[in-house]
Amino acid sequence: MKKISILGSTGSIGTQTLDVIAHAPERYEVVGLSAGANVDMLVEQANRFKPQIVSLASKSDAETVKPRLPAGTKVAYGEEGLIEAAAGTDADLVVTAIVGSRGLPATLAAIRAGKAIGLANKETLVTAGHIVMELAKKYNVSILPIDSEHSAIFQCLNGESREAVKQITLTASGGSFRDRTREQLEGVTVAEALNHPNWSMGAKITIDSATMVNKGLEVIEARWLFDVTYEQLDVIIHPESIIHSYVEFADHSVIAQLGLPDMRVPIQYALSYPERSPTPTDRLKLAEIGKLHFREMDYNRFPCLRLAFECGRAGQSAPAVFNAANEVAVARFLKGEIAFLDIENILETVVGKHVAADVTDLQMIAEVDAWARRMAETV
Ligand code: NDP
Repeated sequence: MKKISILGSTGSIGTQTLDVIAHAPERYEVVGLSAGANVDMLVEQANRFKPQIVSLASKSDAETVKPRLPAGTKVAYGEEGLIEAAAGTDADLVVTAIVGSRGLPATLAAIRAGKAIGLANKETLVTAGHIVMELAKKYNVSILPIDSEHSAIFQCLNGESREAVKQITLTASGGSFRDRTREQLEGVTVAEALNHPNWSMGAKITIDSATMVNKGLEVIEARWLFDVTYEQLDVIIHPESIIHSYVEFADHSVIAQLGLPDMRVPIQYALSYPERSPTPTDRLKLAEIGKLHFREMDYNRFPCLRLAFECGRAGQSAPAVFNAANEVAVARFLKGEIAFLDIENILETVVGKHVAADVTDLQMIAEVDAWARRMAETV
């Protein structure tokens, strides 16, 4: 029985993780759940899965929730609560499905406690990839990717030597606006941006897909997960999201991983790794799909991806600044404060004003993160 704690259990990845777990109760046990503010859903999950601990963002929510929890479930709150849900149980695996870089301290605490990490929260590696990967190595902890592209690459690399890897290509659906010109992006609404053609995801990542920031974050995530250079990473548009990514080897053999666009497949792989087990999803039938399409990435159409590559190559504090400025810009767009194209203007401006510096601990990262957030609020 594998014991699992989920950070962000009420979100898109969190609920799909619970779906996978509910499908195989003989394999998995939920020992920790944590949410932001969705109290009702957390209570429902807690009564269904009876974890050792639940955690909420605020103290007041944690207090009101107490009488609604099953006997034996402890409640915590805030960053401390998140850390306790990550590191304070007997979980074997912690699924990090919180949105944004706030999941970082809890992820580090889980690694120090020797828990394997099922990593959905890509912002963690973008902000502090060097710290997270070094710590994981020190504590001999596996970081198992949940992002579909990284799960695909992880599977393609299974049993292969890293020296034999020539190129890793991440596929991108192109997001909600892939067939629109830049001129047609003027005045697009939040509802239009949230309408992703292939994937049903949380709001922030759906907007990140439309701006192609998501793919940029994924490129940086891949650099850390697979220990490759930015020259070995590229992106191609693949509108159907059937090939989740592929790896070209020194002999020009290419291994790809395919599947329907359903996050429960990569979630299941991270949960059951190194084994495979049945997943409650439809099967891929290529004959029914008929054709798959690919086109070259256009970095002028999607300048945020170019900027992400630049920040990745600059290294040090640059990716953390890119990420923090983006979190603020997306939140402002979702609130209706700024237009869609302002997201990239904010990113260009904040990154342009930043001089990359070495960031060796969480405190330094928190400082550049706060600086970028302040800047992005005022641009
Ligand atoms: P959602 O917005 O759907 O869910 C976010 C989760 O984070 C919710 O459970 C939310 O709780 C929780 N949360 C928010 N604030 C806090 C807080 N202060 N303390 C504790 N928990 C908090 O996001 P997604 O599931 O879409 O994405 C999660 C992560 O996974 C992101 O990093 C994303 O990039 C990545 N990812 C997502 C994919 C997808 O298909 N959705 C695919 C690949 C990666 P509440 O709702 O209760 O406030």
